[in-house]
Amino acid sequence: PIAKTRKPDWLRVKLPIGKEYAKVRNLVDQYKLHTICESGNCPNMGECWGAGTATFMILGNVCTRSCSFCAVATGRPNEYDQDEPRRVAEAIKLMGVKHAVITSVNRDELKDRGASIWHETVVQVKQLSPETTIETLIPDVKANWDALITMISAGQEVVSHNMETVKELYRMVRPQAKYERSLEQIKRIKEYGKRTKSGIMLGVGETREQVYQAIDDLVANGLDILTLGQYLQPTKRHLEVAEFIHPDLFAHYREEGLNRGLKYVESGPLVRSSYHAERHVFI
Ligand code: SF4
Ligand code: SF4
Repeated sequence: PIAKTRKPDWLRVKLPIGKEYAKVRNLVDQYKLHTICESGNCPNMGECWGAGTATFMILGNVCTRSCSFCAVATGRPNEYDQDEPRRVAEAIKLMGVKHAVITSVNRDELKDRGASIWHETVVQVKQLSPETTIETLIPDVKANWDALITMISAGQEVVSHNMETVKELYRMVRPQAKYERSLEQIKRIKEYGKRTKSGIMLGVGETREQVYQAIDDLVANGLDILTLGQYLQPTKRHLEVAEFIHPDLFAHYREEGLNRGLKYVESGPLVRSSYHAERHVFI
């Protein structure tokens, strides 16, 4: 393991500047939208926004959950914005993105977990931008399988649900989620006929064996695409980084994932689930 106090060189990123960046900034503000890029303090904003793309976060920016790694605010959300699907669709059209990634906070207090707004958002994006492919990175529906079908039946090409970590660290990392339940959600997405994708953050204290086990469990539940990236602590109040994983180990996990039956693995220190997402549409 590498000392965890200093960020290694491979985590250096581009500064967020430039014309495309400003265009995305203005659209996000003008349409009063949230992005996980900003809410999650993503290190790739310079690159992604600079290339004219962002990941919109719908259903507000307050989450009912309190995952220990996540910079999104926790609380009781009071926003239920039925006009949001229209604004997301218009912003995506104006951005002219070929592939859009949309995610949301968890809305455990809503009976349908926010599924109708999810559905409407995808429908409206497809209406305004029929050529644009869509990945929906959906929350844990807490075994509300009707809500799941509503969320994933609007014509999106890829449905992702992030495991975030290995089974043994769930209580520490995702206290309101269950490892087996998230696996079942992925299985049901696959059974519905969607391309499935998930993500795991490394460097929170997992062992190699635990990562292999997670990969095997994901393959057994029908996962196609996996992203692996380095966890970075968003603020001092969040979960500490246990170790900075060397790029060579990321490369090893990629090989291992492919050998164990995944169709595609995106693995590297700066990989986030929406990073290079356009590559995952037609594999
Ligand atoms: Fe946004 Fe995803 Fe790019 Fe990060 S990797 S800036 S979250 S689109
Ligand atoms: Fe963050 Fe998602 Fe966890 Fe909410 S459910 S705290 S948005 S990772």
